[in-house]
This record gives sequence, structure tokens and C-alpha cells, in this order.
Amino acid sequence: MVRLKLCQVCLESNTLCEQCKEKLKNGIINQEEIDVSRAVHNLSKANPELKNIDIDYVADVGKLLVFAQPDHAKKLIGRSGTTIKALSEKLGRFVHVVSRPSNDKYLIRELIGNVPLLGIDVLYTESGQLFRVRVSKDYASRIKIRPQKFEEIMKKLTGKTVELTFE
Ligand SMILES: [Zn+2]
Repeated sequence: MVRLKLCQVCLESNTLCEQCKEKLKNGIINQEEIDVSRAVHNLSKANPELKNIDIDYVADVGKLLVFAQPDHAKKLIGRSGTTIKALSEKLGRFVHVVSRPSNDKYLIRELIGNVPLLGIDVLYTESGQLFRVRVSKDYASRIKIRPQKFEEIMKKLTGKTVELTFE
């Protein structure tokens, strides 16, 4: 994934240069990623550990989910969670760092929480492979993320088409 997708100039300022504006417009970077990148950059002035942090993806699901590779995620959380606390305060949002999982099942758990899965089916459709994550209707209310958002994040992070269904 791309290292801090925002350019150095835009990290420092409150406006976007033409290039970064274009990235935002084309969905290469989203507003949350801009906010988090700037906040991390700002904190890195007092905390050199935060220099050169790669953020893979940020999703707003009520709280901000920040996805990063394990070693970067560790730095974002900081000792006893001090960094993540500072980041949350800076952004005025609850921030949760998700260590970039090595398997999809772990990622699914991070996103929908600890609800039992009925199964994950693989379907072969005209437009390619589709993964269907099946959850009992009884647990629907315990899942905070909107299915559409879930599908969007899975696509972004795994490249796979994943669908969340309740039955
Ligand atoms: Zn820029």
C-alpha cells in the first residue's frame, strides 16, 4: 500500500494541493485518511516514533478504524495506549487501530464483532468470486457496521467481493 498518500505539503497545511485534491476526488484517499494522516504527522513532532507511519486505510464506522501493518499499528497505539489516546483527542473521535490482519476471517471479526458466523460461502458469479458471510438474524442488532460499509472495507483491504447476509 501507499505510504502516507498525502504529500508533505498537504500534511503541513489545512488545504490541499491540486494533486491531492485530485486523489480525494478519485477516491484514492478519503477525508478520514487526510485527517488521521495530518494528526499523526502533527504528533510525530513530539514523538519521532510516529515518523514514517504507513496508514493503509481509514474507515468511518461511527468510530474511526485505522488499518495499518502490525509494526505500524503498534506505534500508533503507543505504550499503554498513550498515542492512540492522543490521536483520539486530537481528532475528537474515538479511534480504533486495527493491525492489518493476515487472514480475512480475523478482519471480518474486527469489523462485525464477536458474533457467531453461520458460515462463509464462496459463490462463483458472472462478475467473479463472491464471498457470502452468513450471520443469524438474531445477531443483526449486535452488528454496528452497515453491511454496505462492511463490503466497501473488505473490498478495499482484501480486493475481494464480500457480502454480509442475515438469515
Ligand atoms: Zn498535496
